[in-house]
Amino acid sequence: MSTKRPITFSVVARDGEARAGLLKTRRGIIETPVFMPVGTAGTVKGIRFEELESPDLDARIILGNTYHLWLRPGVETIKACGGLHRFIGWDRALLTDSGGFQVWSLGALRKISEEGTEFRSHVDGSLRFLSPEVSMEVQAALGSDIVMVFDECAPGKATHEEARSSLELTARWAKRSREKFDQLQRDGLDLGSLGITPALPEELSGAQALFGIVQGAAHRDLRQESLERTVEIGFDGYAIGGLSVGEEKSVMWEVVDDVAPLMPADRPRYLMGVGTPEDLIEAVARGVDMFDCVLPTRNGRTGQAFTSRGKLNIKNAQWSEDRRPLDESCRCSVCQRHSRAYLRHLHQSGEMLAGILLTHHNLAFFLDTMRRVRQSIRSGDFPKFREEFIERLNESGE
Ligand SMILES: [Zn+2]
Repeated sequence: MSTKRPITFSVVARDGEARAGLLKTRRGIIETPVFMPVGTAGTVKGIRFEELESPDLDARIILGNTYHLWLRPGVETIKACGGLHRFIGWDRALLTDSGGFQVWSLGALRKISEEGTEFRSHVDGSLRFLSPEVSMEVQAALGSDIVMVFDECAPGKATHEEARSSLELTARWAKRSREKFDQLQRDGLDLGSLGITPALPEELSGAQALFGIVQGAAHRDLRQESLERTVEIGFDGYAIGGLSVGEEKSVMWEVVDDVAPLMPADRPRYLMGVGTPEDLIEAVARGVDMFDCVLPTRNGRTGQAFTSRGKLNIKNAQWSEDRRPLDESCRCSVCQRHSRAYLRHLHQSGEMLAGILLTHHNLAFFLDTMRRVRQSIRSGDFPKFREEFIERLNESGE
């Protein structure tokens, strides 16, 4: 087994709590803070991989959803096609989530036990069972560069007692995830239970990184305890999970304020499922390095653009003859070429190009914002950048 670490992370500049870093993976270097577009079912919806790689966007890492890919097309298919990178045609880095959050969000349709979570597939109604072990096997088969532990999420408004038992379960599942992950990295893939021929060990050894997840809902003492217990197990990176799930925004910032500075300084810190451009800046200011969110792609499909002057709804009649681009300070190819009037026309006509162009601009805006964040941290201007960025956002685009 290779003793080479699957990823390395170094902080190259700090400005207050904000950090600019380099995350090195076997599939290239990722500059942090980084925004990761979400590729739920093996596609970042509405955008080609060439565009994700283009200088306009230059996404270095995208997300894949274990839950969705496991149900359809299934691990067997992806394995037969050479793993997720080859299957989708993406050579850059991939992070897969564990499926924990997706099965949790099924609500009444799932049953959680010590062993794992039982639920009905939304694809074909079959009864499925996801556990730390199954999640690690599936993520190993997908061949992602960063694997997430299988966790249990508590609702944002969970009581102390509920959050405590969820935290305990998450801690036990984190340990089981770590053990199964290590075994898979050591021995190669034994997917007997999934009916798949094991991969060659050298294909996998030391190749994947594993991140732990801090839970504890809105309870600050539990968040700290969850962090301590997660660090005790030991991971390549650490994530804050279970935020943006119905709690007040002020609660989210209290948790991040508390937890982020206590997270190991030499490992990447990932705030899962967050958020708006404003959220990203605020979290960077608190020392977070990695983000993912469906907002730029989902809102792009429903006619909403993120701009440097706030959100813009392309449906509004006021744009019907407006020759300006979505965002006059955006340098993306959509803003260089097309007017609000044209984009509104496409949207009103139900043309699929509307969603494609808005998605492109939204991702360009998120990724360019992070580029500027990184530059400002390196040059010691982050507080000024933050203030001006937020100020401009609040001058509404509409
Ligand atoms: Zn643009």
